Amino acid sequence: MDLFDPSLVQIPQGHFIGGEIVNEGAERLAVLRPSDGAPQGEIPLADAAMVDRAVENAWQAFRLSPWARMAPRERAAILRRFADLVAADVAQLAPLEAIGSSRHVSAAASWDVPFTAEGIRFYAEFADKVGGDVAATDHDHLGMTITEPYGVIGAIAPWNFPLVMASWKIAPALAAGNAVVLKPSELTPFSVVRLAQLAIEAGIPKGIFNIVQGNGRTTGDALVRHPRIAKVTFTGSTSTGAAIMAACAESGTKPVTLELGGKSPHIVFADAPGLIAGRVAQRIAAGITSNAGQVCVAGSRLLVHASVAEGLIEQIASAFSTLRAGPTWTDGTTLSPIISRQQAARIDGLVGRALETGASLQCGGRFLDVGSEGSYYAPTLLTDMDTSNDAVRCEIFGPVLTVQTFESEEQALQLAQHPEYGLAAGVHTSDISRALRFARKLEVGTVWINRYGRTPDFVLPTGGYKRSGIGKDLGRQAYEANLRSKAVLIDIADHHD
Ligand code: NAD
Repeated sequence: MDLFDPSLVQIPQGHFIGGEIVNEGAERLAVLRPSDGAPQGEIPLADAAMVDRAVENAWQAFRLSPWARMAPRERAAILRRFADLVAADVAQLAPLEAIGSSRHVSAAASWDVPFTAEGIRFYAEFADKVGGDVAATDHDHLGMTITEPYGVIGAIAPWNFPLVMASWKIAPALAAGNAVVLKPSELTPFSVVRLAQLAIEAGIPKGIFNIVQGNGRTTGDALVRHPRIAKVTFTGSTSTGAAIMAACAESGTKPVTLELGGKSPHIVFADAPGLIAGRVAQRIAAGITSNAGQVCVAGSRLLVHASVAEGLIEQIASAFSTLRAGPTWTDGTTLSPIISRQQAARIDGLVGRALETGASLQCGGRFLDVGSEGSYYAPTLLTDMDTSNDAVRCEIFGPVLTVQTFESEEQALQLAQHPEYGLAAGVHTSDISRALRFARKLEVGTVWINRYGRTPDFVLPTGGYKRSGIGKDLGRQAYEANLRSKAVLIDIADHHD
């Protein structure tokens, strides 16, 4: 049964500049629905001139509107109103997110939309509660640091959670008093336009939150290199992150926050709580099949003690077999579509190469036909591989779990340390000392112990070690990353003159 009719969902098409939708641009890009491959709409591709129009608009709004100068508690109040409007708009936002992305409408309604609203609310609270510092100077001086917004922040988002990923960028930037120009992924461009409309309704001055539509090569690059962009914040693949960092260096040594790819391991010891009862298997299965594995922190490498490997693999395969692929608007769908045909072909190619180079297929390894042009991939379990195999080394970004076994703690740690990525890891053991030893030694930005994935809290920052990124989203760190600090030193000595 369909939970709504996708053809009836209103789609806001265009850029969003100066508080209005701007549907101008000779070159257009078609956008398909991931669930069934049907045309969803099109976007104008912002060329350098359109990007310049958006950034200039943001710059003028930053300089001339009260946003950066108003009492921080007023800015907080407007942002709280924005959060309330987002939460109240769930009936419109959730279907919009569902038809445009791989997010099921129930997940969008119960998680993506409320989580987006909650993120805006969380950062609103910093606006009037976090300021500068007084430094420890001698008695003849008063030294302090004052914090200031950068100006215009350029934000670039990926397609896997269009609203949530955008909100992680815009919420701390706006709370800190900046203006923002956001480029969503060209695959999922529409739901954030609705977000921008709600920002205006909440009272955020026109021009403070703008959106440019387009691809990375033309629009993203022009945004990053624009001379008025003071800082760039990006979430996406490691290779794009490197290109953006180079562009930032070439166009004004701009600071960057980069949230990049991962190849995160689960490390399961024989004493893991819930192993026999199947809770560990459920957690691992969910960690690689949620959003069809299209999650930066997907637990894509299972490292398991050899003595319990066979039973765990069976339990995970059984959990995989219960999932039902289907459109994001159909009741009972538990396995999302892959975002595009190209991405699906890439997943299948990596699995095929792994099998050619000696891996064994425990389950999956094939497309699922749901009677439409959408691409669906069966949850896949690969065993009998070493670390040199591309399926173990490369981020697949699909529902593919590789399995390696270990005999000792030392070997587990060695397998867990990826040569390039360091985003997250899950450690499953009853031995608290061992869990904490791993928390210390793992070269990753997040360690989950006897759980996998974040709670709906924003307090813990997220970000990668090594080539998984620079800087943090979420937490206090993300707010601070949207401010620069200035040192002020005052001579207060009594000079008797
Ligand atoms: P991607 O790198 O292909 O694209 C991300 C964004 O960058 C898109 O908006 C794209 O148009 C833009 N872009 C591409 N080339 C550009 C360029 N040269 N200059 C400026 N912008 C450019 O990534 P994707 O396929 O959209 O997303 C999947 C990737 O994102 C995965 O690697 C995943 O791990 C990563 N990701 C990381 C996190 C995190 O928090 N670390 C979260 C979500 C996704």
